[in-house]
Amino acid sequence: MAATDLRSLYPHFENKLRERLSVLRGEIRAALLRVDTETYGELAGQVHDVDEESLADLLTDVNLAAISREVQEVRDIDAALRRIGAGTYGQCLDCGEPIDPARLEAYPTAKRCLACQRAYESQPAAKSPPKL
Ligand SMILES: [Zn+2]
Repeated sequence: MAATDLRSLYPHFENKLRERLSVLRGEIRAALLRVDTETYGELAGQVHDVDEESLADLLTDVNLAAISREVQEVRDIDAALRRIGAGTYGQCLDCGEPIDPARLEAYPTAKRCLACQRAYESQPAAKSPPKL
């Protein structure tokens, strides 16, 4: 499938990503309220009010174990939405080929095609952060 065909699916994937984001927003808010400290209680109120675009920014400094997975997913979704905006969504980060739409359907935040993702995951070194 050509990259131009994939772009016609952008509105579909954008909707999917935004729906997931509003679910996550609810989960994060509930988790922050459970923590019940002044700081996070205040933050929970903000999670309720900010629009989707600002959520990732708001959560940038939050490093709470209870929501770290959700925060990471918000960041992934935020990045995917940016790729949609830039027109590079659905393009494999490594080989540049279009990612199978069925894969994007299952993992809308996928950055790599299946072959490249497998290669990436089979390199143990790739899992540790790059040394700066
Ligand atoms: Zn690839």
